[in-house]
Amino acid sequence: MMENYQTPRGTQDLLPEATRKWQKVEDLIRNLCDVYGYEEIRTPVFEDTRVFKRENDSSDMVNKEMYTFSVHGEDSLTLRPEGTAGVVRSFVQHKMYGRLEMPAKLYYMGEMFRYERPQKGRYRQFNQFGIENIGMKSPLIDAEVIALGYSIVKALGLSQVKVLINTLGDDESRAAYRGALREHFKDSVSELCADCQRRYEQNPLRLLDCKVDNEHPSMQNVPSLQQYLTPESKAYFDQVLAALDALEIPYEIDDKLVRGLDYYTHTVFEVVSTHPESGSQATVFAGGRYDGLVEYFGGPEMSGVGFAMGLERLMILAEAEQVELGEEDSLDVYVMALGNVGTLPLALATECRAAGYHTEFNIQPRSLKAQFKSVDRRKARVAVIAGESEAANHQVNVKFIEQQRQITIDQDELVATLDAYFQAEGEEEA
Ligand code: ATP
Ligand code: MG
Repeated sequence: MMENYQTPRGTQDLLPEATRKWQKVEDLIRNLCDVYGYEEIRTPVFEDTRVFKRENDSSDMVNKEMYTFSVHGEDSLTLRPEGTAGVVRSFVQHKMYGRLEMPAKLYYMGEMFRYERPQKGRYRQFNQFGIENIGMKSPLIDAEVIALGYSIVKALGLSQVKVLINTLGDDESRAAYRGALREHFKDSVSELCADCQRRYEQNPLRLLDCKVDNEHPSMQNVPSLQQYLTPESKAYFDQVLAALDALEIPYEIDDKLVRGLDYYTHTVFEVVSTHPESGSQATVFAGGRYDGLVEYFGGPEMSGVGFAMGLERLMILAEAEQVELGEEDSLDVYVMALGNVGTLPLALATECRAAGYHTEFNIQPRSLKAQFKSVDRRKARVAVIAGESEAANHQVNVKFIEQQRQITIDQDELVATLDAYFQAEGEEEA
């Protein structure tokens, strides 16, 4: 019996009216990456589970959201829930630190998989664009990375966004702060959710990231990390902020921003939408500086910084802010067929296409009126009419729709005729 097949929960089909918009956004992203000197890297969609599940990682993503499997008794594999780990794995595997001038500037775009409760802006298969700048540590790079993400959001036309930024300081700062948090939460931890109880043990910084307990009284007067920063960490953060000021990128310091992954040090940031429709899925892109990750994969001690941008969320916000993306393309040429002209319409269409014109042709026998309807519906600029009597003389009729002007030409003049017409059109527009 025929089942009622549907996309799996938390996944979606992107139909042509959507992919048209996606491609616009992807092109815009690729162009800006190019301008900023980031090059694309493509890593596998699944990796050895240990690439993502690193010792002592306390994030929900690693602990609850991974699609992990093993086939025919082989080692455990995991569908990538994020891009950074695979990119850094690849950076080390191919010893990019020895071959490229540092920093390496890489970007990726592709699907990620997380077992989450699906809702608007939250899916089980979703797409991220992200960048990684690996191999050098400078507050200027942190600011540059934020600037690239911010310029993408701006170039897309989103206006209702803000940059939230914080520093987690160096290891010493965080160790001191973790102690302070354990002290602060020691009496209330038993009232918090199960995740928070795990976080309290593994990494109390992550308590601040809890979406369940954020209203609990103990969350209200949490000590601030600022007080535990070493002077070096404080100076580093001040330089990042000064660079953002110089770039005129507005930001807010959010000292509760700790980010989901455990490998962050120093700068962490999130760019969120302030649009009322964005609700609790407001984060468009987020990232920070990480230490220790290159070493984890067997490379030298090197620092990196990057962010990941959720493309579905970007699309939802573009829609909410009514950004115009990719109208349906109109046709340049529609080839009509009158009478018994055999393969001629296909041959003419193929010729037009080879010359770069966006062309369709009539397939089934239809009345002239019905074919002109197609010309209309497809917004074709030129109709090429292959008629039986003209075909006998190797001729064809060409109708310029806007001018309502029709001419008869030799078939081998078709492309030259189109070139002349579209060139003149182009000049008029310019
Ligand atoms: P959240 O707090 O919303 O769960 P996160 O901290 O898990 O986000 P990151 O791991 O930093 O998110 O991923 C970066 C971006 O990827 C997010 O800001 C968001 O735009 C997007 N993203 C994350 N998870 C999903 C998902 N399940 N569906 C769609 N987009 C997602
Ligand atoms: Mg999440």
